[in-house]
Amino acid sequence: MASIHDYDLIIIGAGPIGLACGIEAKKNGLTYLIIEKGCLVNSLYNYPLNMTFFSTSERLEIGDVPFISHGAKPNRVEALEYFRRVSMTWGLNVKLYEKVESVEHTAAGQVIKTSKGVYSCSYTILALGFYDLPYLLNVPGEELPKVKHYYDEPHPYFGQKIIVVGAANSAVDVALETYRKGADVTVVVREPAIGESVKYWVKPDIENRIKEGTIKAYFNSEIKRIDDISVEIKTPDGIRVLENDFVLAMTGYQPPFEFMEACGIKFRGDEYHTPVYDEQTMESNMSDLYLAGVVCGGLKTNKWFIENSRIHANLIIDAIRKKNASRKTEGTAF
Ligand code: FAD
Repeated sequence: MASIHDYDLIIIGAGPIGLACGIEAKKNGLTYLIIEKGCLVNSLYNYPLNMTFFSTSERLEIGDVPFISHGAKPNRVEALEYFRRVSMTWGLNVKLYEKVESVEHTAAGQVIKTSKGVYSCSYTILALGFYDLPYLLNVPGEELPKVKHYYDEPHPYFGQKIIVVGAANSAVDVALETYRKGADVTVVVREPAIGESVKYWVKPDIENRIKEGTIKAYFNSEIKRIDDISVEIKTPDGIRVLENDFVLAMTGYQPPFEFMEACGIKFRGDEYHTPVYDEQTMESNMSDLYLAGVVCGGLKTNKWFIENSRIHANLIIDAIRKKNASRKTEGTAF
């Protein structure tokens, strides 16, 4: 295990918002390190291969690096290229494939233990995202290899009977894309209709496919059991057993609450399990421990996205600058 290295700031997560925090730290002369358990922008890397962002590219820009895309809205490959360029342009100090295992608070600051070493710092930012932990269906058969919680591309599903679970953006995109590439698609939705937050230019498409019957839909319905060749669904008209080859459970993802709790983060006690933080500074209930990006929304994973959470980097680094200035005056600057 490597020895302790001292930084002003450690940022956990090299997603777009972790990178934005690193850029602000660098601009303000702080020593910093970004630690990421996967590759650079790991969540974006794991998005569906053909996905297109709903944001136009300039709304995803960080660090004043222009984001030019071929279409009005960028795709995954363009975003990966962009964030690699941002990282190189700013010469960001990032360690990849190193998982942070704990954040301990001591009188002298924070101690960060990872899969590869130990670091100390005065301030920590948790920019952890929410894409690592899928919501499970919790039904018998969920462990079968035919059940997927992440979707990559439509080709494997050509000519197959698939069930897409969910009615939010990801589920709708998957249903439409696989249908158009020759899958026999049924959607199973707990709610009575396609989600209200589905992109306004996509919603009529799925609704019309359902109306004409080319995509079949069961609303107010839930999967009860999955086996190698079929799926049992509880519908308002009773139990249905459908022949099935694959289940694509697009039921959403959740932030790493256990890790956050172990870091000392408290939650507001609302239905979304929103973490406690000061909206002006993004500081959590733990002194000198900040939250940034989508992780701030708890289970309301559509509250924050890249567009509207880029600003967290400025809020946090401003707050740290002010703390440093007042600690210097008091003679306790780190
Ligand atoms: P993430 O990008 O998730 O980054 C968090 C990082 O932390 C990850 O790389 C993860 O590996 C790492 N990490 C977690 N735990 C640890 C640990 N213990 N140790 C080390 N590293 C750790 N937003 C928009 O603004 N516009 C869009 O058009 C848009 N389209 C989207 C389409 C899809 C399909 C999805 C799923 C999301 C979309 N979003 C969009 C949302 C946006 O992608 C996320 O808001 C964005 O990834 C958030 O950035 P982040 O840095 O907060 O989190």
